[in-house]
Amino acid sequence: MPPEASERVRAAASEGRETLPFGPAWLNIEVTQRCNLWCVMCRDPGQPTGGDLEDRALESLLPHVADARVVVLNGWGEPLVFPGFRALLARVRALAPGALVRFNTNGLLLDASLADLLADPRHPSAVALSCDGATPATYAAIRRGGDLEAALRRLDLLAALKRARGSPYPRLFVEVVLQRRNAPELPGIVDIAVRLGAEAVTVEDVRGGSFGTPLGELIADVEDHLDAYEEACRRASAAGIAVGGSGALRFARALAARRPAAPAAAGAREAPRARRFCYEPFQTAYVKQNGDVRPCCRYPAPFGNLGRDALPAIWNGERWRRLRAAMASGSPDPVCASCMASGHHVPVPHEEAAAPAPATTWAFA
Ligand code: SF4
Repeated sequence: MPPEASERVRAAASEGRETLPFGPAWLNIEVTQRCNLWCVMCRDPGQPTGGDLEDRALESLLPHVADARVVVLNGWGEPLVFPGFRALLARVRALAPGALVRFNTNGLLLDASLADLLADPRHPSAVALSCDGATPATYAAIRRGGDLEAALRRLDLLAALKRARGSPYPRLFVEVVLQRRNAPELPGIVDIAVRLGAEAVTVEDVRGGSFGTPLGELIADVEDHLDAYEEACRRASAAGIAVGGSGALRFARALAARRPAAPAAAGAREAPRARRFCYEPFQTAYVKQNGDVRPCCRYPAPFGNLGRDALPAIWNGERWRRLRAAMASGSPDPVCASCMASGHHVPVPHEEAAAPAPATTWAFA
């Protein structure tokens, strides 16, 4: 989920600036493509992947970390298998002391020493637990090689340390990749979020990838699971936890479609829909393990590589300028247009929410 844009990003976007006098506020660094699991929606056992972040890319990138408000240390892969994770965390904190450092993890390698670093109240941090089931059986069937209870033991330890220190960090989130198998367990996944003191549950749709399981076997028909979603929203709302993501948006739309339309008052016109806009081209750089730089995690093509070019040259290069111009003009490029239709970058609109869940935008600034 992209962050809320800062004032200067909003100003640059509304002015339609193609060349920016500042660097990425949200820097996403894929520290490794390796993983300790083989989730059905992600990869098959033995599937070849890239390795860890290339040193050359990292050294080229680090001078620009100081501009960032948020540094995300993950991509495709489990960040905690990267042996240099703690050292990188320390370097990022030294270069950008006020930046929030966040990452997604399956939690299985989150040990006491890392928990100690993350629960430091002086350094903003956020951890999103990837949790694709509320029962050990469902979790293990999806997150092959994983163990729900083992992951929760680690996260419980982190949450307990945070509470004991009275630290606001790490901010905790739970993310679920919505599938047929885990849709009935959405209420239980919210319970896990409550147990951890998480702020939000992100329900993302499964996306196509380079895995062997056919997508059709995984995708949940939301119509079959509306009760589970509504119960999850009720529990989240009672605990003050936000629910969002592209899967949640599909649920909300399905529920909204079931409601009888209110008769229109004489002469009333349909309210104009707000034009969708994505701030990512104005604030985010996504650096892949091999040094490729993309405008966001959704954009498939690199705009440059840190092995050849410096980040500022890529950031204000022709392709990025074109992407910003297209977004600002109201005619986003085709990748962005289809992404915006998917609901990835927009929170579930409050008025469409199925249950009185809180607003679903969460800021990291
Ligand atoms: S693909 Fe385009 S619309 Fe989607 S998040 Fe990236 S920049 Fe935004």
